[in-house]
Amino acid sequence: MTTETQQETLGFQTEVKQLLNLMINSLYSNKEIFLRELVSNASDAAEKLRYEALENGDLYEGDGDLNIHISFDKEAKTVTIEDNGIGMTRQEVVDHLGTIAKSGTASFLGQLTGDESKDSQLIGQFGVGFYSAFIVAKSVDVFTRKAGGDTSEGVHWSSEGEGEFTLATVEKAKRGTQIVLHLKEDELEFADGSRLRHLIRKYSDHIALPILMQQEAPFVPPAEEGEEPKEVEAVVLEDETVNSASALWTRNKSDVSKEDYSEFYKHVSHDHTDPLTWTHNRVEGKQEYTSLLYVPTNAPHDLWNREAPRGLKLYIQRVFIMDQVDEFLPMYLRFIKGVVDSASLSLNISREILQKDPSAEKLGAALTKRALDMLSKLSKDEDKYLTFWKAFGNVIKEGPAEDFANREKVMKLMRFASTHNDSDAQTVSLSGYIERMQEAQEKIYYVTAENYKTAKNSPHLEIFRKKGIEVLLLTERIDEWMMSHIFDFDGKSFQDVAKGELDLGDKDNEEEKKAQEEAAKEAQGLTERLKESLSDKVSEVRVTNRLTDSPACLVLNAYDMGAQMRQIMEAAGQDAPDSKPIFEVNVEHPLIQKMDNETDEDRFNDLANIIFDQADLASGGQLDDPASYVARLNKLLLELSK
Ligand code: ADP
Repeated sequence: MTTETQQETLGFQTEVKQLLNLMINSLYSNKEIFLRELVSNASDAAEKLRYEALENGDLYEGDGDLNIHISFDKEAKTVTIEDNGIGMTRQEVVDHLGTIAKSGTASFLGQLTGDESKDSQLIGQFGVGFYSAFIVAKSVDVFTRKAGGDTSEGVHWSSEGEGEFTLATVEKAKRGTQIVLHLKEDELEFADGSRLRHLIRKYSDHIALPILMQQEAPFVPPAEEGEEPKEVEAVVLEDETVNSASALWTRNKSDVSKEDYSEFYKHVSHDHTDPLTWTHNRVEGKQEYTSLLYVPTNAPHDLWNREAPRGLKLYIQRVFIMDQVDEFLPMYLRFIKGVVDSASLSLNISREILQKDPSAEKLGAALTKRALDMLSKLSKDEDKYLTFWKAFGNVIKEGPAEDFANREKVMKLMRFASTHNDSDAQTVSLSGYIERMQEAQEKIYYVTAENYKTAKNSPHLEIFRKKGIEVLLLTERIDEWMMSHIFDFDGKSFQDVAKGELDLGDKDNEEEKKAQEEAAKEAQGLTERLKESLSDKVSEVRVTNRLTDSPACLVLNAYDMGAQMRQIMEAAGQDAPDSKPIFEVNVEHPLIQKMDNETDEDRFNDLANIIFDQADLASGGQLDDPASYVARLNKLLLELSK
């Protein structure tokens, strides 16, 4: 080894230490993945070099054959992974191998529970990368030199993965990075040719670069007893390519196995779980491209961080151009991972140009359509789709507001809980709802509430239950906001069952309307008294046509803001506009009938307030003044027991 200068010892960033500990424990059962991670980094390094060399061919230093070389030494107990990619400067080594630059690291570590099985799931989504070397290595040496740098600017990084690493400057003739793993005593199985070959084929076959290993020495049978040992010609063992070494997306679909697609997904996504589905397409003609898009099985930990990196890997004619290109897919498809390889975009395209390039825009529209088609196809498999919907449904719900052109398509992907089902599973599609609509029914009815039980038991559903009309139960935070962006589906408009006048438009409608008008006339005295009692709480009191069992319910004006939106605004520190609900009473209900006969004004007043508050509670509301409600109720209870 050449002399080392400028030696120093540095400490890992705290997060690295935490991650190292956690990873070594939780990924132990899957320890062989270290090879895939290191090969994946080597391949990225080669791609970066190829991209930079587009502008500056000197970076190749006369050697444009990019590859990854893997070797082992049983005696020295090492496995070595070497690439001739972009390499790193001293500062880059400190930045990349001493810290975790990924956004959201802190929040990721905050999510850890200490429960190993849960944490290993999480860590799978986070992507462990280089540090996975320490699962099998007791110490790691990295020798690296930046492409185009002087041979005297090599860097030697070394660590036992326990809090510290050392750095030194060394002479390095070849550009790129060499990683030497000094195996732990019980991991010596990895210093073995057939084991390594097997792992490369299993996990890294899709890597577009050749992964080279020295040929295995030919088998020489031992000499029989009494026989003279045969003269064996010395063979020169050459390097051979172990993987397929062609970009996976350029192969024919029929030549790519499910496992290959899965491993490639892990390479591009840094997710360790298999993808849920994918779509691989080649398009020829004016806008020529190949795309391979994946839907993950689990939501990433930073799904709700709108600043989190997202987007596709862009290749142009097989050359890697950039990562995380978020121009191609809209925000509500931010969970889609994959690559697009375009033959039409110009090789020297930059991010700035990409944002304005009309053909990039067209490509984006085409990819969005592909992604939506893939999801639509996935929806035919109910089990898988439920998994998808649980992970990403709330993101899809941002779609109608963001992507007007694809609104109908996005709405077809939505699934809701419904009174049609007995469980809270969100499995009902809008098309399914429409198929079940009653003959004269013109609207798609829904109720919004904080949770499933509140929605399901909402008094507003009573008349629907009686008439057997299905109602969608919308219980996600985002639902009310989403409903303010969609107005109809397949020609049917949406109707919140707790808003405005209820016109069921069914066959009994005319008769019922007449009866209701009649009842309203008869109850005029009562509704006026109620209005007086509740004047500061309600905008109107009227006879209901929604209730069969409950005495009363609260209804909003057709354009009033609902409770969820109010909460969202208030949480964001904004004032929600003031509006008072309509108080609807069920004149068939004995309590309401009793009230009509109540001559004691105080008592009437108490009852009116109690019934109002109860109506508020039953639809999931929070009382403004719960103590007064309790006091009034107790007063009545006392009178009862007298
Ligand atoms: P990730 O690959 O997810 O960014 P890693 O921990 O695997 O995370 O690697 C951190 C960084 O170290 C990489 O982003 C890259 O910049 C650098 N790096 C790792 N391996 C190599 C390599 N073989 N050649 C050049 N740079 C590398």
